[in-house]
Amino acid sequence: MENQEKDILQRRLDTLQKVSSFILYITNLHQLLELIMEESKEILQAEASSLLLYDRKQKVLFFEVARGEKGDKLKRIKLKLGQGIAGVCARDRRIVNVQDVRKESHFYALADKKSKFQTRNILAIPLVWKRKLLGVLEVLNKRHGDSFNEADEQLLQIVATQAAMAIENAYLYRENLRKAHFSGVGQAMLSLSHDIKNILNGLMGGLTLVDEAFKSGTTDNLKTGWEIVRRNVQRISDLILDMLNFSTRKKPLYQKVNLPGFLEATARLYHDFLREKNCSISVEADQSLQEVFFDYQGMERVLINLINNAREAIPENTGKIILSSRRIPERNRFEISVRDNGCGIPPENLKKIFEVFFTTKGHKGTGLGLAVVKKIVSEHKGQIRIESVVGQGTTFYITLPVSPGDGTQVS
Ligand code: ADP
Ligand code: MG
Repeated sequence: MENQEKDILQRRLDTLQKVSSFILYITNLHQLLELIMEESKEILQAEASSLLLYDRKQKVLFFEVARGEKGDKLKRIKLKLGQGIAGVCARDRRIVNVQDVRKESHFYALADKKSKFQTRNILAIPLVWKRKLLGVLEVLNKRHGDSFNEADEQLLQIVATQAAMAIENAYLYRENLRKAHFSGVGQAMLSLSHDIKNILNGLMGGLTLVDEAFKSGTTDNLKTGWEIVRRNVQRISDLILDMLNFSTRKKPLYQKVNLPGFLEATARLYHDFLREKNCSISVEADQSLQEVFFDYQGMERVLINLINNAREAIPENTGKIILSSRRIPERNRFEISVRDNGCGIPPENLKKIFEVFFTTKGHKGTGLGLAVVKKIVSEHKGQIRIESVVGQGTTFYITLPVSPGDGTQVS
């Protein structure tokens, strides 16, 4: 007797462990249902299992997945509430244990006929989540010729609770995906696809020029073409990095950084490009900040995004960008600023510029740059301040702690 109890307990524990994985499959309803059927068949030591979903509008149960060779035929069967064993189980919302289907008037023989499966006994349980009927799970024919007993009913109850929860979540997931399609996320994808398409068009144009140069054996178009290719490769790399930065939550990987060196190195990326436009970028660094801590790649992205905006705001021939840094000793912080003499930001836009996808640059902008800046700076527990005068220029100030707080990673 004691052994038998232990055995039952063990089976319950095994069952719980198995069904806890249902929730992992909510992104794929079909796979989830197959898994539920497979596991319930194994757990209950049954020859087969089936799962019917409830269609609330039509008030019928139908087979979504049906096992076996003739399974597809089952798919067309629809049961009304009260029809067949599954129908009774759904209507009364109770477990139905039929030890011998030949003696059961409710047995609906059509399913057997269509699937060529011979049912001896059935255990059917309603799938209910928060009082909502989702379907019916059935296991058929206990192996070794027995029929299902009370211990089996309890096991199937455990399976059914988890199954119902997972199915409800799978529905919610589907619904959210559908909504997302028409909402912000869908729009965002659309806008990003446009950005990528524009960049690709640019790339193609550049490549055509390079191609022609090769064909004609002259270098006329080579430099222009190559420049276009390079600029668009840079744009696509910026876009992808911004998307990655924006969509992943990251703890900064703090590193010891020499701040003047960091500013010089970043400015150097823009020297040639700005010189060609008769513009300039210069660094005014506080030389005492030889040792500060931040995520190098993250802050580089911040600076690049700020410099890109400055570069797009300044006029040709007279444009100036200045990177500078200073200490704020009383708060043990330091400040990096990016100043430009560009078009400035009108006051009504100041509130919106950090919003993702806000851009005033039409198809040339992505509206991701400052959203990423804000995210990375706040991950560093830093602050951003802006001074801007329309027609005169803009300065972005980033304030960060000199050393990371306790518990953060330093390498
Ligand atoms: P994008 O550059 O793709 O438009 P951002 O998020 O980088 O997206 O910037 C959002 C908007 O903020 C820009 O479209 C522009 O209107 C404004 N902006 C940002 N930086 C500057 C700047 N230095 N000077 C003028 N306007 C700026
Ligand atoms: Mg930008």
